[in-house]
Amino acid sequence: MNKKVCILYTGGTIGMVPTDRGYAPKKGYFHSLLDEIAQLRYDDMPQWDLVEFDPLLDSSDVSVDEWNAMGQAIKERYDDYDGFVILHGTDTMAYSASALSFMLEGLGKPVVFTGSQIPMCQVRSDGRDNLINSILIAAQGTACEVSIFFGGKLIRGNRATKISADDLIAFTSPNYPTLAEVGIDIRYSKRALTMPVQAGEFKLRRMEHIPIAVLKLFPGMRFDLFEPLVTNDMKAVILEAFGSGNIPSRNTALIDSIMRATENGSLVAVCSQCYAGTARLGAYATSGELKDFGAVSCLDMTTEAAVAKLYYLFSLGLDDAALRRALGTNLRGEVSV
Ligand code: ASP
Repeated sequence: MNKKVCILYTGGTIGMVPTDRGYAPKKGYFHSLLDEIAQLRYDDMPQWDLVEFDPLLDSSDVSVDEWNAMGQAIKERYDDYDGFVILHGTDTMAYSASALSFMLEGLGKPVVFTGSQIPMCQVRSDGRDNLINSILIAAQGTACEVSIFFGGKLIRGNRATKISADDLIAFTSPNYPTLAEVGIDIRYSKRALTMPVQAGEFKLRRMEHIPIAVLKLFPGMRFDLFEPLVTNDMKAVILEAFGSGNIPSRNTALIDSIMRATENGSLVAVCSQCYAGTARLGAYATSGELKDFGAVSCLDMTTEAAVAKLYYLFSLGLDDAALRRALGTNLRGEVSV
């Protein structure tokens, strides 16, 4: 196999070592770990290069600047490789994979995020398997999109959500089928791999720092205390509402804040706090006012994808009407419409 894969190592448990303060990444160490994995040099493995980021991060510290750095690293090497693997912490992997799915416009090669729950320096690490399969998937060129490979499954990056802090199957894609199952063979699902067609060549769209908020509702919430979050200087607020997008309707404090937020020019978007399913504004009377006041439903998008999509759409500089339209449009397979 003379395919070439570029591995971008950004940090995360996969390359961490124990320290006095808990697990942390260690500069320059990961290469030595890879040297010990004989399979990485078998004839049926593609060629690969490793690019180590500086600083290496726990993914809790990954944000807009790091997304731009990942995008830039791919852009600079795009023509030199058949695919890319991004080694990343699991905690915010679904956010980063969602962000990159939007930022890498016209992507025609696989970009596979992976990592591990147990560091590679430990005997039971899941990192070796995740890494080897991700390299193969990146080289095969079948899933030409941003995906996450973890625990034997390849899933669409912007459909993924982290479901376990402990299990080796740490991610799932509640509202979209798996792209590939990895057993004795790597079995792709042709149907799941369908994507909206994008016009134009590959291009990196950088993300800007945009003030947005996510507000998870809970019974008994004192909405007056959260009012500034909804109304002050926010470009957008994602409400994680109950069920199919419902909010308390007998206490009008929230709906009043939403009205003021909309008058201030902020966009109010609604996701469901359910693990699976769709936010359908107007299905119940308790979401009717959200609709009346111009809130936009994120339908079956994960909150991770909705956050990334809002960063992206505001970074495009769209006007309000175009942005609202784009939020409900399937751009990269992130939403069922
Ligand atoms: N805290 C780690 C991180 O997200 C967890 C992991 O990689 O699994 O970087």
